[in-house]
Amino acid sequence: MKPPRFQYHAPQSLDEALALLAELGEGAKPLAGGQSLIPMLNMRLARPGHLIDLNRIAELDYLAEHDGGLAIGAMTRQRAVERSPLVRDRCPLLAQAIRYVGHLPIRTRGTVGGSVAHADPAAELPGVLAALDGRITLRSRSGSRVLGPDAFFLGALATAAAPDELVTEIWIPTVPERTGQIWLEVARRHGDYALVGLGASLTLDQDGVIGEARLALIGVGPAPVRARRAEERLRGERPAASLFREAARLVSAEIQPEADVHATSEYRRRVAAVLTERALADATRQITGEEMA
Ligand SMILES: Cc1cc2nc3c(=O)[nH]c(=O)nc-3n(C[C@H](O)[C@H](O)[C@H](O)COP(=O)(O)OP(=O)(O)OC[C@H]3O[C@@H](n4cnc5c(N)ncnc54)[C@H](O)[C@@H]3O)c2cc1C
Repeated sequence: MKPPRFQYHAPQSLDEALALLAELGEGAKPLAGGQSLIPMLNMRLARPGHLIDLNRIAELDYLAEHDGGLAIGAMTRQRAVERSPLVRDRCPLLAQAIRYVGHLPIRTRGTVGGSVAHADPAAELPGVLAALDGRITLRSRSGSRVLGPDAFFLGALATAAAPDELVTEIWIPTVPERTGQIWLEVARRHGDYALVGLGASLTLDQDGVIGEARLALIGVGPAPVRARRAEERLRGERPAASLFREAARLVSAEIQPEADVHATSEYRRRVAAVLTERALADATRQITGEEMA
């Protein structure tokens, strides 16, 4: 199918784009990589009267160290993140997760800001932001604000962004010392959205005790889910297979995945538990270089 009729705008700067959004309001939609928006137009799931193409706005395409983390402009292509040595070095969780986003041609066009703004419940980037307490910067003509993942991701395809706001940047903290970060997921075929995905970050103190544990899941709720009870159980303990099994049980009890045509709720719980146990063991091995007892 072809998209409904719309008026096309191609602003050359962020200010110009924000002015257009302020003027056109709810009738306008930003166009980034088009990998989600264009199919939605073709299927008539979205019918904006105006498309504001962000692809000429060079100032939104960057990846830089900032404030103890990585700041990534909204129009940075997912493929640029995947190929970045800085991302591999400073944020291994993001480097691993981004490779699961669709297929190479999708990542070549798809943008960081588009993925975050689209807020698919099984999208990897929102999961990474949730796991690491990243930040999302929004800008409108009247100012800017910075939100954490809990405040930004409100549900399936729903965010706190107002119609006149653009996502302009995400920020992800640099991996701390003695930290292992692992992204794992299960999908029916390579490149499909995940049935369940999990991001784990584990930090050991000098005595080998778990100082910080972070677990976030995708595909098990309308927005990314932090497994806070399991995280709490892990902190202050020494890594051990029995502890990780217990954390996995807590994760599967803590989440409430919906059943759909792809998988039952029970299956998703089971996969979440298996991924948790595996990711925690892998993260520990990443830090110590040794197999666990
Ligand atoms: C076959 C297929 C498989 C895929 N598999 C995966 C997958 O496994 N994991 C995954 O995460 N994604 C997957 N995707 C989606 C892909 O990652 C998209 O690139 C992404 O969801 C949207 O990014 P985009 O730049 O293409 O945005 P667009 O499609 O251009 O826009 C998406 C939405 O975000 C809005 N928007 C875009 N940029 C901004 C901005 N800066 N500020 C505010 N609003 C904005 C648009 O108005 C639109 O509503 C898949 C897509 C396809 C076609």
